[in-house]
Amino acid sequence: MFIDFIPMLRDNYCYLIYDDDGTAALIDPAEAQPALAAVNAKRLELVAILNTHHHFDHVGGNQDLLAVHPKLRVIGFGPDASRIPGLNEPVRNADTVRIGKLEGRILSVPCHTQGHIAYLFGDALFSGDTLFAAGCGRFFEGTAEDMVHALYDVILALPDETKIYCGHEYTEKNLLFAQTVEPDNPAIHQKLDDVVAKRRSGQPSLPTTLAEERTYNPFLRLESPVLQASLVSQGACAQDAGPVERMAALRRLKDSF
Ligand SMILES: [Zn+2]
Repeated sequence: MFIDFIPMLRDNYCYLIYDDDGTAALIDPAEAQPALAAVNAKRLELVAILNTHHHFDHVGGNQDLLAVHPKLRVIGFGPDASRIPGLNEPVRNADTVRIGKLEGRILSVPCHTQGHIAYLFGDALFSGDTLFAAGCGRFFEGTAEDMVHALYDVILALPDETKIYCGHEYTEKNLLFAQTVEPDNPAIHQKLDDVVAKRRSGQPSLPTTLAEERTYNPFLRLESPVLQASLVSQGACAQDAGPVERMAALRRLKDSF
């Protein structure tokens, strides 16, 4: 499988996925024009849009793409059909989607939105706005408990070598926040150097891997004693707070960072 980054809007990533037979799909096209340019430059046959969730900066290109390619399959979470423009192929947790020879699995990860899904193609996880490199999405329609479930029970259950392709280029800012809760974690400093160098040369900071994320992403490190002590010393949660309360505390700190 080939995966191309198509930067959109200010800091969104749309992904173009395809195989050597030329059959292609777009994940979260916020805009149609840059997506069509990428598809045409590679002479691919675009057959589908895969949406992770209903936010405009992930589905904004759906209607314009359908106007150009009326037979496009538009795949998204079934119960969110009224919020995902053009959705014509509803999916649910554990469903399989086929794009030519490519086969992907749907993982239900509600919290950022109630109908948020991720797509797993081989070792590539398209995590939308649920898991970011060094961070996670805001809890717009869910709770800290939902995010603990999505990250720990669903995403961290995948193999360590899983590659993370998320919806935004937020990595640098996320790492700056991570430093405030784990100032002495060397993995954060190393990743920050790496990300700054990549961004200076115009490259995306992605993908990362789950193995890497476990070392510096505070939202995946709720069991770290240093992180727990830091939350307590910042008055964000009590000494005896459980993982859900720690998740909520961390998100509150990040929201005001
Ligand atoms: Zn979103």
